[in-house]
Amino acid sequence: MTTPTELYAQTVTGLVQAHALGRVLCHEHVVLRTPGFAESYPWTYPRREIIDRCVDVLAELRDSGISTIVDNTTIDLGRDAELLAEVSQRSGITIIAATGCHLVTPRFVFNRSPDEFAALLIRDLTEGIAATGVRAGVIKCATDEDGVTATNETVLRACARAHLATGAPISTHTHAAGRTGLAQLRIFADEGVDPSRVLIGHSGDTDDFDYLHALADAGAYLGADRFGGNVRCSEETRVKIVAELCRAGRADRVMLAHDTNVWSEKEPPGWRELHRPQWHYRHVLDDVVPELRSLGVEQVDVDRMLVANPAVFFPYLRPSQTHR
Ligand SMILES: [Zn+2]
Repeated sequence: MTTPTELYAQTVTGLVQAHALGRVLCHEHVVLRTPGFAESYPWTYPRREIIDRCVDVLAELRDSGISTIVDNTTIDLGRDAELLAEVSQRSGITIIAATGCHLVTPRFVFNRSPDEFAALLIRDLTEGIAATGVRAGVIKCATDEDGVTATNETVLRACARAHLATGAPISTHTHAAGRTGLAQLRIFADEGVDPSRVLIGHSGDTDDFDYLHALADAGAYLGADRFGGNVRCSEETRVKIVAELCRAGRADRVMLAHDTNVWSEKEPPGWRELHRPQWHYRHVLDDVVPELRSLGVEQVDVDRMLVANPAVFFPYLRPSQTHR
């Protein structure tokens, strides 16, 4: 059902109403690259072949019951807006693309103010990425083991300002063991950002429940977003963390994903099958949800994490605000 007040998410193929996002994986990638690498070694990046493979994998995902993925691939991870738009159109999967940056801060930022970087992010969100006309719909930033360094603070403040200017939600990468989500929220609060517009990514990497409840108490969303990835904690622990959050009445603050991809420059052929066999987009629906249910998580909470929370978090535009 559509209400007059229903907001729209900005996707790579245009605006999508909240109710039409369906089941959403809140933090994934499609293609991960080192920007500039293929310029020197083009044979390492067979782009057309990769696009066809992305279409096959994502069409299969759509048929399995996922409607939308949020692609948190930033400039420093080789973002390719045209690829995302083509893959979305051909596969039928809705894709929300990101602006911002991951762990490699662009050199542009170092001696500039937050506003100067924010202006670029705002352009991605309102006019489109480069000349593609494809708009980003989420703002990504990362605070890792080093915590909030001076440069990271500039990035966080720029992301906060791009959010305040556009309404686009903020989705972060954190080092959960270092509790860097709380450090991010402190900077965002200082900029006047409502924590409910922030998804603290990789929160599912820790069973430090004091930390997780502090994030949820502040009003932020928690990304349990590395299922199948076998990093930072075991798969069994990862499932139990989400079950415990649901038991504690926090399902309204949690979203799910794998942080996986179709093609990554990091993985030689056959690597994933050997080392991360469960690290694919269907793992949450195929394996994690049944495990959560067996641990007592109600279906209504599963639906909150996959459908209702993303439908509240990702949409932010009214038709009158769409710059069209
Ligand atoms: Zn990621």
